[in-house]
Amino acid sequence: MIFSRRHYRKDWMIECDICVIGSGAGGSAAAWAAAHKNRNVVVIESGPAWTPADFNQRESDMYARLFRNGGGTSTVNQGIGLLQGRCVGGSTVHNLNLIKRLDDRLFAHWKKEFGLEHLGLDELTALYDEAEKLMNVHPMTEPDVNANNAVFRKGCQELGYHWAFLRHNRRGCQHSGFCELGCAYDAKENAMKVWLPQAMERGARVLADLHADRLQFTGTRAVSLHASLRHPLSRDIEQRVVVRARQFIVSASATGTPALLQRSQAPDPYRRIGRHLRIHPAVSAVGLFPERLNSWMGVPQVFESVEYLGEEGSKGLRIWLIPTFAHPAGLAGMVPGPVAEHQRQMRQYAHMAAVSAMLHDESEGEIMASGDQETRIAYWPELADRRRLLDGLREAARILLAGGARKVMLPFRQPVELEKIHDLERRRTSDFEPLDLPLLAVHPMGTARMSDDPKTGVCDSTGKVHGLDNVYVADTSLFCTSTGGPPQLTAYALGIRVGRAAAAA
Ligand SMILES: Cc1cc2nc3c(=O)[nH]c(=O)nc-3n(C[C@H](O)[C@H](O)[C@H](O)COP(=O)(O)OP(=O)(O)OC[C@H]3O[C@@H](n4cnc5c(N)ncnc54)[C@H](O)[C@@H]3O)c2cc1C
Ligand code: SF4
Repeated sequence: MIFSRRHYRKDWMIECDICVIGSGAGGSAAAWAAAHKNRNVVVIESGPAWTPADFNQRESDMYARLFRNGGGTSTVNQGIGLLQGRCVGGSTVHNLNLIKRLDDRLFAHWKKEFGLEHLGLDELTALYDEAEKLMNVHPMTEPDVNANNAVFRKGCQELGYHWAFLRHNRRGCQHSGFCELGCAYDAKENAMKVWLPQAMERGARVLADLHADRLQFTGTRAVSLHASLRHPLSRDIEQRVVVRARQFIVSASATGTPALLQRSQAPDPYRRIGRHLRIHPAVSAVGLFPERLNSWMGVPQVFESVEYLGEEGSKGLRIWLIPTFAHPAGLAGMVPGPVAEHQRQMRQYAHMAAVSAMLHDESEGEIMASGDQETRIAYWPELADRRRLLDGLREAARILLAGGARKVMLPFRQPVELEKIHDLERRRTSDFEPLDLPLLAVHPMGTARMSDDPKTGVCDSTGKVHGLDNVYVADTSLFCTSTGGPPQLTAYALGIRVGRAAAAA
């Protein structure tokens, strides 16, 4: 059952075996796994519970309903926007359904650097298989290719660049193109549709609209979670709820999890909680085409190019290239410029296609809980990563031009328009400052990373927080580095594992 604001009464006290905090990819999988072990599970989610009937396909409504801060979160220096979900199902409700496994070489790097004694590749592979089966993961095929994706493929083909179909978790997709605003057709095989309902069939309770404020410890054990129902606008506390549990699993995302652990004053002798943040910052180029493309229609991202991705190989750029598009408000951010010029460009919305360059970042940032509710996100890529982003932007533009664009717009503060690849080489810059380029990130990770050594990580490789007996983490905070690709599958896989570990403890 899902409880929401109208169900809460004063000073409610809840008892359960396992309390999961956050209901996104990691939390829903942990709750699913623990419920399947017949544990009494309670999931605490600070956002509301929506149904597909609430997804009205309007950006103005859906950003406010689904996204943290209505989609307006950014880094402390304002240089990078960070999108995250805040509702039952977390970021899986508005994500684009791309599914990718961790590269074996990257996992080997994690093992070498961080030990991960309890986690082997065979086990991770079996968890991926299990999660993919549950979510109907399958490769995209030709009928899923919309005009925006066709441009991307054509550009890659012309340049001789790698391109490939991605795999997705969808069933009954209507190709409406509204994925990032929630699926009105309930075609996403995500936390909200698959994992949480199956956990609830096994007795799990989901408490929506309830914000986890802090864990209370006695010695090395957490004994209770203090949560509050807050007024949606003023954020004043309306009700307090206390959850007593034998085990706690923190799955509040790579921003929310470290913030909760910090507010709870969890043991952190080596000051690791919240550090090592990676976010996969991305920048996009927009191309104008002679023909009408209607790029907003259809499955948003069916192809990828790993031409410039890779640890050291693949030309060493650490850039993942993907087709991208958005509805008008979202796309407007990729076409900055003076008002009149911006309006002129946006009138050609139906003729636009876009390509994103997402960085497999090596730079690290930090999450800092501030006051009762605020979370500060300090992150700015180092010079080498900024240069990679510029190179990636150039490659995105190159793909668009090779794909038939008559003009490409690069979203610098002083917008740059290019008509030939030759222009692109001449425009090469070597650095940029915050606000020179609109950067967007949707994959925070690494802020409670796993390591066998408490000096280098917050959690051990079972997901348990070092120094605590009954507190686990199950979300992208656990990642040891950035992944260079969509992270949700690994969050689900680790969530299953942590849920089982907590159930067995
Ligand atoms: C626009 C967009 C598109 C994306 N597309 C893809 C894609 O195609 N493929 C892919 O792999 N990944 C994609 N991602 C990323 C992916 O969705 C996330 O990496 C994944 O959902 C992270 O899982 P998580 O469990 O770490 O956190 P989340 O899924 O973000 O869930 C965390 C939950 O915790 C809740 N929470 C936070 N703090 C508290 C608190 N104190 N108390 C109670 N609850 C709290 C939040 O409200 C949220 O619901 C996308 C993300 C975005 C924003
Ligand atoms: S494209 Fe498919 S998954 Fe995305 S919103 Fe439309 S029907 Fe849903």
